[in-house]
Amino acid sequence: MESSFNYVDLAVQGVQALRPYEPGKPVEELQRELGLDDAVKLASNENPLGASPRVEIMLRESLHDLASYPDGSGFRLKQRLADRHDVSSDRITLGNGSNDVLDLLARVFLGPGRAAVFSEYAFAVYPLVTRAVCAEARVAPALPLSDTMALGHDLDAFAERIDEKVRLVFIANPNNPTGTWLAPDAVEAFLARVPQDVVVVLDEAYRDYLEPSQRVHSRALLERHPNLVLTYTFSKIFGLAGLRVGYSIANPQITDLLNRVRQPFNANSLALRAAELALDDADHIERSVALNTEGLGMLGAALDERRLQRLPSQGNFVTLDIGRDAAPVFEGLLRQGVIVRPLGSYGLPNWLRVTVGTAEQNARFVKALDRSLADT
Ligand SMILES: *Cc1c(COP(=O)(O)O)cnc(C)c1O
Repeated sequence: MESSFNYVDLAVQGVQALRPYEPGKPVEELQRELGLDDAVKLASNENPLGASPRVEIMLRESLHDLASYPDGSGFRLKQRLADRHDVSSDRITLGNGSNDVLDLLARVFLGPGRAAVFSEYAFAVYPLVTRAVCAEARVAPALPLSDTMALGHDLDAFAERIDEKVRLVFIANPNNPTGTWLAPDAVEAFLARVPQDVVVVLDEAYRDYLEPSQRVHSRALLERHPNLVLTYTFSKIFGLAGLRVGYSIANPQITDLLNRVRQPFNANSLALRAAELALDDADHIERSVALNTEGLGMLGAALDERRLQRLPSQGNFVTLDIGRDAAPVFEGLLRQGVIVRPLGSYGLPNWLRVTVGTAEQNARFVKALDRSLADT
């Protein structure tokens, strides 16, 4: 039936202006389009080693249990996470991915007349969740390209934008899509400047890829700053992006607020179990970090050799400057079965983000990049 309404006009104002999150192209879709069976996806910062082998065994054994609701409180996983971070479990909120927790934070603390601050080159979900609840997205310009932490967070610019309207600050460390990071004492100094009634979200999705000396002391920071919320994900180093599980650690009051708006069974039963097993498999984490360090070195050297500028990265990805519109180069890579992430939607039309893969995948990317640069 044709409608006489324009339903877009009926939506709340924040949603009228939104564009949906653009995920990386799925491998299967590209394979179908090209008639290939060996495309590689280096577009969404997934773990090239996959999940811990322990998770695969568990999943096969769990299939009889699918008719039951999950444990809505996530008791066991929260207990494990509490031990891991040396905090009490009333500080933990589980999410259907950490994106879910970011959404809960926006729903609790933002709304019309309120504002969130984040960096010019910030994770795409921050503006999405902010605008969806009709709050103002206040952007702190990134550090200049000439800075040693090119396009990274400028915490002074963040602080300058905080006024009585601002209720949330989103900081990813390391940051996506840049890979840049903040020294622990810079995070600490920033938190000391922020009023206690502004909630600071420190998104540590890529924490395990940081050099240990660059990781903040989460528990000490939480004790000193009750307005701090830390978020984590099982989608990156733990290799569970497909199961959707993440969490936050915050003071018990904030945690209680998040749980008031959380969907009752937001973390599914397979994800809860898989996350527990993934936490246990220290060897898998170690192998994943080692593979990433090696891959970052290899990709960095290859890009330097080709005189392609890249941003400093301690993530599991490299962001590189094509020096001209990157879209044709991205398309050229696709035609060769290599999916990377174009950054036009992030305001970086000349840049591509490539996830560190296995050694073979990285080599394949470099070879395809050479051909694409020559052809386009
Ligand atoms: C990938 C990523 C996440 C993780 O999102 P999930 O919903 O847990 O998959 C969170 N924050 C940043 C900055 C990311 O890049």
